[in-house]
Amino acid sequence: MAVPSGIGKAMKHLDLDGHDLPPSPAPSSPNNGRKYALATELVYTEGSDQYNSSSVPIYQSATFKGGPGQEYDYTRSGNPTRTHLERHMAKIMNANRALVVSSGMGACDVITRILKPGDEVVTGDDLYGGTNRLLTYLKTNGGIIVHHVDTTKLETVKAALSEKTTMVLLETPTNPLIKIVDIAGIAAAAHAANPDAVVSVDNTMMSPYLQNPLDLGADVSYESGTKYLSGHHDLMAGIIGINNAALGDKFYFMINSTGCGLAPFDSWLLLRGVKTLAVRMEKQQTNANAIASFLENHGFKVRYPGLKSHPQYALHWSQARGAGAVLSFETGSISLSERIVEATKLFGISVSFGCVNSLISMPCRMSHASIDPATRKERALPEDIIRLCVGIEDLGDLIDDLSQALVRAGAVKLTQDGFIARNPDDAETGTTKQVVDEP
Ligand SMILES: *Cc1c(COP(=O)(O)O)cnc(C)c1O
Repeated sequence: MAVPSGIGKAMKHLDLDGHDLPPSPAPSSPNNGRKYALATELVYTEGSDQYNSSSVPIYQSATFKGGPGQEYDYTRSGNPTRTHLERHMAKIMNANRALVVSSGMGACDVITRILKPGDEVVTGDDLYGGTNRLLTYLKTNGGIIVHHVDTTKLETVKAALSEKTTMVLLETPTNPLIKIVDIAGIAAAAHAANPDAVVSVDNTMMSPYLQNPLDLGADVSYESGTKYLSGHHDLMAGIIGINNAALGDKFYFMINSTGCGLAPFDSWLLLRGVKTLAVRMEKQQTNANAIASFLENHGFKVRYPGLKSHPQYALHWSQARGAGAVLSFETGSISLSERIVEATKLFGISVSFGCVNSLISMPCRMSHASIDPATRKERALPEDIIRLCVGIEDLGDLIDDLSQALVRAGAVKLTQDGFIARNPDDAETGTTKQVVDEP
């Protein structure tokens, strides 16, 4: 970087990177000491643009002219549009610093690059498929020792922790099993085992609107900006939030070295998307809650932290402000699940989530297909599980769409009074019976 380090400390208006940017993020709150609520902070940005543009300009430039000492020289190292997004995200994530890269997996790559051969990682057994794939690569080729444990049990995690643990990688709620992980409990146990252990939390399922891992004791909070932050499935991005300056410098070093920083146009698009995070998330989780209850009332085994029946309901609500908009349910038969997925119209068949449109998928066939069947079985991932990612459409239309799909697939039948009821032929649906794949 062109700016010598240390300059930011001497001049108060410069940020950590030495950029003289306007006060987005801090402190945009009113001067009476009160903090703005997150919904306000999400939409509030200030700029130092010479024409007072309301939208942050896109600096679509690879290079910046001038000699040493200027703020920007090369976009791989830094770009004003990206910096603006990073400062805005730091504010929203309650982080001292945020870094934005080209995808959520890119963020995971930057974080895990601090690992050295022989280092031990403790992580979950119901991980995002891409994270699992990257960790398997590091285990096979990088000499990293990876312990996959049931992170929903604090005692099991504690047993795997030692002074050799250099990183703990958590996800909560997990996907698609929607298991809840005690962030504060595990962070404390990890730091007790090794004060230098880096506790990283993948916060994609909740977004900073619903959960702040850094406030719960994590060292790193990262997420895929492709999902809720963007909200429209029109870009890919990854965000890393940290409070520790040295750790932030290490991550920045990796981003500058490998060139995975988010491009100016995508940075601008994400700045635009994040402004509506609060309204989207509120509507999406209201819809998700109603759909989860609808499915549960029709006898399906539903996994959703908004339902009182969720075995870790209390733990979830002790660390998050909402249940999110992803839920899963089981039908008891792979082919029945396939028919349901194919019969919906509003719920588009797609991997991913966080979009304004509702989506439906069978994780074992799609997002988690990179996990081999034996491992999926070992981790008790039901092959018939259907995941719903609920969007902002009209609730009545969504329930209608799902109802007709359940009827057409033969999972439920219409009763004389017009209500749908569970098909008695599928009496075992909703139990944890072993799923048999049909030809
Ligand atoms: C999508 C996702 C990722 C990866 O993000 P990309 O932007 O697709 O690279 C990581 N973790 C979770 C939980 C995700 O859902």
